Amino acid sequence: MTTNSELFERAQRVIPGGVNSPVRAFGSVGGTPYFVARAEGARVWDVEGTEYLDLVQSYGAIIGGHAHPKVIEAIRSAALDGTSYGAPTEREVLVAEAVSERVPSCEKVRMVSSGTEATMTALRLARGATGRTKVVKFAGNYHGHGDALLAESGSAVAHLDPVHSPDGVPGSAGVPPTAVAETLVVPYNQVPTLDDTVACVIVEPIAANMGLVAPVPGFLAGLRTECDRVGALLIFDEVITGFRVARGGAQATFEVRPDLTCFGKVIGGGLNVGAFGGRADLMDLLAPLGPVYQAGTLSGNPLATAAGLAALDLLDDGAYEQLTGTAARLADGLAQALQGAGLTVQVPRAGTLVGLFFGTELPVDYAGARGTDEAAYAALFHALLSRGVALAPGAYEVLFPGLAHTDAVVDEIVERAGAAAIAVAGAG
Ligand SMILES: *Cc1c(COP(=O)(O)O)cnc(C)c1O
Repeated sequence: MTTNSELFERAQRVIPGGVNSPVRAFGSVGGTPYFVARAEGARVWDVEGTEYLDLVQSYGAIIGGHAHPKVIEAIRSAALDGTSYGAPTEREVLVAEAVSERVPSCEKVRMVSSGTEATMTALRLARGATGRTKVVKFAGNYHGHGDALLAESGSAVAHLDPVHSPDGVPGSAGVPPTAVAETLVVPYNQVPTLDDTVACVIVEPIAANMGLVAPVPGFLAGLRTECDRVGALLIFDEVITGFRVARGGAQATFEVRPDLTCFGKVIGGGLNVGAFGGRADLMDLLAPLGPVYQAGTLSGNPLATAAGLAALDLLDDGAYEQLTGTAARLADGLAQALQGAGLTVQVPRAGTLVGLFFGTELPVDYAGARGTDEAAYAALFHALLSRGVALAPGAYEVLFPGLAHTDAVVDEIVERAGAAAIAVAGAG
């Protein structure tokens, strides 16, 4: 049998850090990552045959459960017709129509291959449309790994920049200061005062890359008003919240209409997809109609559109009711189990998303999130993992309950969390 340790050792010889995305390396929690062999529904199995109740769900790319039969069948039958053509297909039209219908602010939609590409291009489009260069982002919001937005980006980038960095300081080596010189980083949940040099404000309408931080009442509406006042565009990064917190995303929940919206994760059904959409007059500035260039060999890929359409198809109104109930059961259960064992935790919920912070107060911004106890998170993470429950291996991620997390699965997770918490409290 191949073991996780053997694979990790081999991986580290040929892959930097042994992983293709940094948080997977367990750097912030310590230990050896489990190498997944297969997954089904709420469960994943590693190469050693160990089963985990999975709350990672590909960081939110999966919402109907792993290997959902309808998604798998859609991919299988699409693959039989070929995997990429370099010519348009009917399913690309269906995806754009599906997005437009669910998210009315997206009058037109373009598909790309990742959330990162979606935010990069939305930014370029906003700059092209306004003729301005400044971009405002919020500390602790993650928008993928494009240069201009890699500043105080939360998620795994948090482990690279342990101190609060001033404006214009990149969150990664290799990002030239000039690339973020036009990026202004401001605190989440406070409406900044803008001027007419600002091309756009980009925001996670529910922040889910510094743990889970919901917008305070009036924050998103305030951004809309302030953007309108100075003629800046408002971009919602709904890569996590899109099609997850509600059929129409966070913008439906909070009733704020952005100019542009970025998607990823759920819309790919577990395949490599991003998309962005918005006002038709803005979207028509993209090549080939307009002067803003964007392209992609695999954009609108046949397998990815098949998977995405199948995933969206699972998400009717009943599905969101179920997901909200599941998230509430998980959040309430975890709070009781962990606090009952004496741990000082906050378990916030925003719609269908659940967070987990070690601290006495619920963070409302990045400073607050960075003030929580990462070491305590790591201890609970391992206590849970050894009891067959997989959380993301980083304190700044969130929990992704999906349609496969039945009440019985949630109750099992909560019961194991209780045992894990008692072990952690006893050790501390
Ligand atoms: C994951 C994520 C991205 C980046 O998407 P990738 O597909 O990983 O490039 C962008 N924005 C948010 C809010 C995300 O959570």
